[in-house]
Amino acid sequence: MEAVNPATGERLNVYDPDDDDAVERKLDRATSTFEDWREVPLREREELLENASDVLRENKQRYAELMTREMGKPITQAIAEVEKCAWACDHYAEYAHKYLSDEHHPSPPGTEVKTVHDPLGPVLAVMPWNYPFWQVIRFAAPYLTAGNVGLLKHASNVPGCALALEEVFAEAGYPDGAFQTLLVGSSNVDSILADDRVRAATLTGSGPAGRAVAETAGKHLKKTVLELGGSDPFIVLDDADLDAALETGVQARTLNGGQSCIAAKRFIVHTDVYEEYVDRLVAAFEDLTVGDPMSEETDVGPQADPDLMAELHDQVQESVDAGATLLTGGEPLARTGAFYPPTVLTAVPSGCPADTEETFGPVATVYEVGDAEEAIEVANDTRFGLGASLWTADRERGQRLAREISAGCVYINEMTKSDPRVPFGGIKDAGYGRELSEMGIKEFVNKKTVWVE
Ligand code: NDP
Repeated sequence: MEAVNPATGERLNVYDPDDDDAVERKLDRATSTFEDWREVPLREREELLENASDVLRENKQRYAELMTREMGKPITQAIAEVEKCAWACDHYAEYAHKYLSDEHHPSPPGTEVKTVHDPLGPVLAVMPWNYPFWQVIRFAAPYLTAGNVGLLKHASNVPGCALALEEVFAEAGYPDGAFQTLLVGSSNVDSILADDRVRAATLTGSGPAGRAVAETAGKHLKKTVLELGGSDPFIVLDDADLDAALETGVQARTLNGGQSCIAAKRFIVHTDVYEEYVDRLVAAFEDLTVGDPMSEETDVGPQADPDLMAELHDQVQESVDAGATLLTGGEPLARTGAFYPPTVLTAVPSGCPADTEETFGPVATVYEVGDAEEAIEVANDTRFGLGASLWTADRERGQRLAREISAGCVYINEMTKSDPRVPFGGIKDAGYGRELSEMGIKEFVNKKTVWVE
């Protein structure tokens, strides 16, 4: 397995993947550790998570640089990612016992009926490279604290991050086997998931990867959570605070090089403010600093991988060929590394890639609409349904319209974001299940009914 710096093309390191014997040993260890781990009092598991938070904070700079080298995110954003991971650990260290406390139900006199929350066992996590630490901590913090053990199959282009995450839990004092990294490619996922020792799976990534995992899990009747990306609308209504909608819109589309499932991808702008908004969006995109991700001045680093950048560029070109108007960007930068400039497309014809597919890079597609109803129609005209952001000065109007948007979350006058306290997940092709918050920690537990007569 090779780690390559997408900013320079330099080969960083080569790792030997785990062979069948190594995977076998890790699955055995996961099972035996689980039997002890599930008996560890919840308070002790919370304390270990506090330790994990400390390890993350203490090693923030090192972990951030590792991410930036392996997948190219700007260093300031990498540091923020490690801090957010520590926050998620703090959150579950404080709240896990509340979230997992017994639930009492109405019951006949003299009888006690309740639901208790038991762990399921080893959970396989198939994770992507875009937030190499956050996506992993987002599953590990709640699920380990609930008494499960974790098996991480990380994306093949971030093996250093995958091993560093194993180090976080080892240094925090978790028992050997509570969190293990499997250095394997995607072709090994099927047999690992089919193995009886693995009890559930969570995947964040593309639709095809999600479908493959769901198919195997379905065949073996294993619970899954899938987070598969989106083409989120960013709706700017006529009464919106344009300065705020612009500043946040630029960030929401270009953060992490635009490689985020909940990035604003389709800007849907009311005709009364359309011209001004588009002009300012183009100017703001052209003002961003694209370049060395290790520099604190950089807003947009390279795309994580030259092949993924080529796919993005194909989507842009096909859309332009179909009749879309290119207002800025649209060509890979003529320099070493996978650099793609912030790009704005308007007048996008229905059915072209920028209209119907997820654009996983800094490409904004802008639609002009006549009123709020049309904005909702365009927003819902997608096979995805992850998040949405809606801008209006009228908070009541915003909440009314939010009910009409087909998505797992709607943020009014704020960018769509994940937050440990708040449920996160999608509908339709964006996947199913919820991560984070109380809902997230309860995805991989046996909600066991206990009736006491
Ligand atoms: P993938 O979905 O291919 O990769 C995500 C994870 O799934 C990786 O660990 C990958 O392993 C694994 N995987 C891939 N195929 C399978 C399979 N058939 N069975 C089991 N596991 C599998 O994403 P890409 O990196 O190829 O990116 C492609 C597109 O996916 C992006 O352009 C974007 O649209 C979307 N995406 C969405 C993300 C999100 O946050 N929702 C994150 C990343 C991508 P391996 O690396 O070894 O192939």
